[in-house]
Amino acid sequence: MRHFAIACLPGDGIGPEVTSEAVKVLKAAQKKLGGFSLEFQIVQAGAALYRDTGVAFPDESFAACREADAILLGAMGLPEVVQEDGTEVQGKIIVETRKKLNLFAGVRPIKLMPGVVSPLRGVDKVDFVILRESSEGMFASFQAGASVYDKVHVDSMVITREGTEKVCDYAFKLAMKRNGRPSDGKRVVTCLDKSNNFKGMAFWRKIYDEIAAKYPGVQRDYAYVDAINVLLQRPQDYDVLVVENIYGDIISDMAAAIVGGMGMAPSGDIGFEHAMFQPAHGSAPTIAGKNIANPVATILSGAMMLTWLGERSGCEACIKGGAMIQEAVEASLAAGHTTVDIGGNTATTAFGDAVVSRL
Ligand code: NAD
Repeated sequence: MRHFAIACLPGDGIGPEVTSEAVKVLKAAQKKLGGFSLEFQIVQAGAALYRDTGVAFPDESFAACREADAILLGAMGLPEVVQEDGTEVQGKIIVETRKKLNLFAGVRPIKLMPGVVSPLRGVDKVDFVILRESSEGMFASFQAGASVYDKVHVDSMVITREGTEKVCDYAFKLAMKRNGRPSDGKRVVTCLDKSNNFKGMAFWRKIYDEIAAKYPGVQRDYAYVDAINVLLQRPQDYDVLVVENIYGDIISDMAAAIVGGMGMAPSGDIGFEHAMFQPAHGSAPTIAGKNIANPVATILSGAMMLTWLGERSGCEACIKGGAMIQEAVEASLAAGHTTVDIGGNTATTAFGDAVVSRL
């Protein structure tokens, strides 16, 4: 029996609602399969905590994340809760955890599920992954940009050889594990950048090429990050897209829209020793507390966590559990259990129940 400690940070807004569905589903998978046990420790962090106590992420909360086998996070932030400099607090939790635990690979699967209609006319197959470099790029300036009194603020994009090699290598390894792009089954890693304008981005592309040379079985592909917004009108032509941190942040939301919106986009922030799994969406405060939030992204983030734990530890039951949850979510959607954001009327908790009953 493998035992895993999970630091669970429900956070703000819809965070606690969607996290509780993911935990419910993970516990059901554990009960069904046996072979592993998950112990969830609820960890305090978030904008509400900051508003109430002046601290967004207590030291003991970060320590719990560092000590855990994996982190499961709901959503952080409330737009009206800002610090003196006007920024929100969730960066202190999410961005700093990525940096401190070296979670360089932001894995963001974008998949059109059965029962969900893409807003792109005629598109019925979407299955690609955005791999967002998550520890440097523009976010290297997080809490570190130059400030001259309150007159000048400079945030710079930092591209390092080490960081770019790691994330590009991860992208090609990921492509090797996948079935290729939907249009023709070819394994492709698309390098997204602005190498036409910036030296740092030309450097990024050069390193991408060096890494690509080690993976002859995977096709190279290039796109400027502004053009990808239009190129993704044919999402079936994409498999893995590797991209700098803030560009990845921005295109992730647009990509989620192709498959039904933020509630359909799971993610994992993965390093060599630690990993944090969370929906790509925020705290959606206007729909919080109404039992209407879509929990799919968080449940699938939980499935990614189980798969990652299994691959790391050799626990086959965990790997099976991750696949089972993915299938149960797809079957539930196909059977018409859809929340308001994707055109249905299933409640948050009822969707979790539907997945549990399929498990
Ligand atoms: P958001 O992702 O919370 O919401 C964007 C839109 O998507 C809204 O219309 C919202 O209702 C909808 N939406 C998001 N998740 C949904 C779900 N599961 N089901 C149904 N609809 C969903 O982004 P925002 O409005 O820009 O930000 C709200 C707060 O979240 C802010 O405080 C922001 O800083 C924070 N935020 C946190 C994270 C994070 O925790 N990782 C990420 C992005 C934004």
